[in-house]
Formats: sequence, C-alpha cells, structure tokens
Amino acid sequence: CQASTDTHDTSFRKDDLPAHGVSEVIVGVLGGGQLGRMLCQAASEMAIKVMVLDPLANCPASAIAYDHMVGSFDDSATVQEFAKRCGVLTVEIEHVDAATMEKLEQQGVDCQPKASTIRIIQDKYLQKVHFSGHGIPLPDFVQIDDLEGAKRAGDLFGYPLMLKSKRLAYDGRGNAVAKSEEELSSAVNALGGFDRGLYVEKWTPFVKELAVIVARGRDNSISCYPVVETIHKENICHIVKAPAAIPWKIRKLATDVAHKAVSSLEGAGVFAVELFLTKDGQILLNEVAPRPHNSGHHTIEACYTSQFEQHLRAVLGLPLGDPSMKTPAAIMYNLLGEDEGEPGFHLAHQLIGRALNIQGASVHWYDKPEMRKQRKMGHITFTGPSMGIVEARLKSMLKEEGSESR
Ligand code: ATP
Ligand code: MG
Ligand code: MG
Repeated sequence: CQASTDTHDTSFRKDDLPAHGVSEVIVGVLGGGQLGRMLCQAASEMAIKVMVLDPLANCPASAIAYDHMVGSFDDSATVQEFAKRCGVLTVEIEHVDAATMEKLEQQGVDCQPKASTIRIIQDKYLQKVHFSGHGIPLPDFVQIDDLEGAKRAGDLFGYPLMLKSKRLAYDGRGNAVAKSEEELSSAVNALGGFDRGLYVEKWTPFVKELAVIVARGRDNSISCYPVVETIHKENICHIVKAPAAIPWKIRKLATDVAHKAVSSLEGAGVFAVELFLTKDGQILLNEVAPRPHNSGHHTIEACYTSQFEQHLRAVLGLPLGDPSMKTPAAIMYNLLGEDEGEPGFHLAHQLIGRALNIQGASVHWYDKPEMRKQRKMGHITFTGPSMGIVEARLKSMLKEEGSESR
C-alpha cells in the first residue's frame, strides 16, 4: 500500500447505486460518542442514514443521528433489537458484545468489520498473540497470572515494565508502569488485580509514536492515509501532526506494517494502527483500533476523503475515496478536560475563543454533557502551507512565545 497513491477500485458502476441518492442502507453504529457524532456529520453530506446505539440519551451523536436507540451496546438483547433496524452494523468503540455480533452474523446480519476482528482487538493480549502470529513486529509481551509471573517477566524484560489490562482499556486507563520489582504489586493493584486479566509489555523507548489510518473496502481493497505523528500526554493522544516528519524509508516501513496488520483482520471499515518508531529505525506495532480514531481527526479538513466518510464508504461497499492530503500540513490538538465542571468548560472555551481568530483553525466541540478531567471534549485542527506555519498557529492559540496569529 502506497500512502496516497492507491488506485481505487474502478469496477463500481453508477448502476450499483440506488435510484436516488448514495445508499439506501441504514448504517447502525454501536456507540454514540464523538466518533459516532463525526460519522453522522460525514453521513449527512451524502444523506446516508446513520443510527446509533448508546446508553446516554444526550450522547454526542444523538443530536445529529438519523435515529438514536437508547440502550447498552454491551447488552445482547438490545444489540439484537438494534441490528433488526439496520442494513449494516458497525462500531465506533471496540468494547461491545462480540459474542452477540458473532451470533448476529450467523443469523445473516451484516457486521463490518467482522465480529472476529472485534473479538481479537477488544482483548489486547489476544490482539498481540494474533499479530505476532502474523509476523508483525511488536514489543515483547507475556501474560501474567500472579506476582511470581510478573517478577519473572520483569527479570526477562527489565524495568521500567509496562503492565496492561487485557480488556476495556482506553486513554491509558488500563496501563500501569512498574519502575522496579518493588513497584510491581502496586501497579497490579492500580489495574484492579490479576482477576482483571493482565499482561506485560517490554518498555519501548520510542523516538516517535506514529499512526496510520488504513481503510479496507468490502472487496478487500486497501487504502492507507499518510503516516502521522501522535504525541501523548499522560497516555492520552493530545497532538497529531500530519504528515509525520520522518524519512521516506520509515514512512514506507510504517505503511507496510499497518497494511499487513489490517490485512490479517476480517471485514470492511477504517482501522487505526498505532506504531512505535525506535532509535534504530524499527517500527513496532502498539495496537489497532477497528474504527475511526483520534489519530485521523485531521483528515476532516486535511484530506480529500475524511476517515469518517471513508468508513461509511467502506462498510456500505462504495468505492474508497482518496486518502491523500489536500493541505501540505495539519495539526490536530485535543481539547482535554483540564478541570471538573464549570472551571474546565471555562478553560476549554478560552482556547476555542482564541482558535476562532486563527487562520486555518477548525473548531470541533463534541457537546458532551459533563466535563471531566482528561476527557476528550473536542479538538481543533490547524491546516496551512507548511508544518512550521501550522505549529505557529497552534502556538498562538496556546499563547506561547514566537506565535503567529491572523
Ligand atoms: P488508546 O486510547 O490509544 O486506546 P490505550 O489505553 O489502549 O490507549 P495504549 O495505546 O496501550 O493505551 O498505551 C497508551 C500510551 O502508552 C501509548 O500511546 C504510549 O505512549 C505508551 N505505551 C504503551 N505501551 C508502551 C510500551 N510497551 N512502552 C512504552 N510506552 C508505551
Ligand atoms: Mg487502545
Ligand atoms: Mg493506544
């Protein structure tokens, strides 16, 4: 897969379209958070109908969805009821009921990506076993069942040691670092104990974190977005720079690893492949998300086809769009909750107020009902003619020295 230069499937004919519009198929999305909301926004441009299933009556997607069923995406009966109303079932979160999706598939429900993919990805340990079995380079990892096992892993991999929950992990909640053997038991406790299902990963002293959004069509065609750099703050994605400032060889290697990882999974949709770049130029896979992802938000303004439109095209069997960038450079800055309640809203609104005065800045606010510390409340994308200029635009919002504003 060559980023941005894929030839798209040309076998799709206009006769494949319905008599009116782009698609009559209702897309059902498990989850109605910000990713669901942005899927609905992309869908509205083509008058595609997206229904969401989310327990929160005022979830971010609710106001824009064609329909919102209030209920849990982790409850079998609810998911089955929801599936009856949709033509194709997809996800904006991987922590859904995979067993129900498998059952639905057996009954003929069209799930994209496939339930097998969700099952593999939602258990990070299983995900690692799967990718290592497919020859994808990863940090060394091993399951731990008790403190003795954790100590053995520490002896093997050294310290610091990364402990991870197998399931229900997001935004680093599910990771704990032990700097020495003495810290192992507190790290295990911080993750809720061995009963939660834990494993460890060798610490990777990466020089950069990279990500590639990979789209896969129903005909198995694969198209990769340009490689981006992701910068995390306390384990949470905070800034994304597109394209990543890396040599051509690394770009190719990262794209090849991402392509190979996604090829090993089943079903259509977009996937985000998180990668580590090491000092000696190796690319190691961190994890894959089977859905649109924070590392692809800039694609809304910066690429010909956004990751959200691409996901809809993929699951509906439409031709994949052009993933290449239409602006030379972009930076995405996440608005993370800095404080609980009103003070947090106030700080976010200060940044938004400044961003609205900056050239090339696009403000996204997810309208989450509650402000919480470290919660993703919105994001701002800066586009411009060079990385230097978009960096200056970001700085001017953050009011740092050497900033540029309109
Ligand atoms: P996400 O919100 O991306 O789903 P997550 O909770 O699944 O996050 P990870 O992606 O496993 O968490 O880890 C979060 C961050 O922690 C990574 O982006 C990276 O910065 C750091 N990290 C994870 N694994 C390692 C490792 N083995 N060595 C060093 N740093 C790591
Ligand atoms: Mg994750
Ligand atoms: Mg991650």
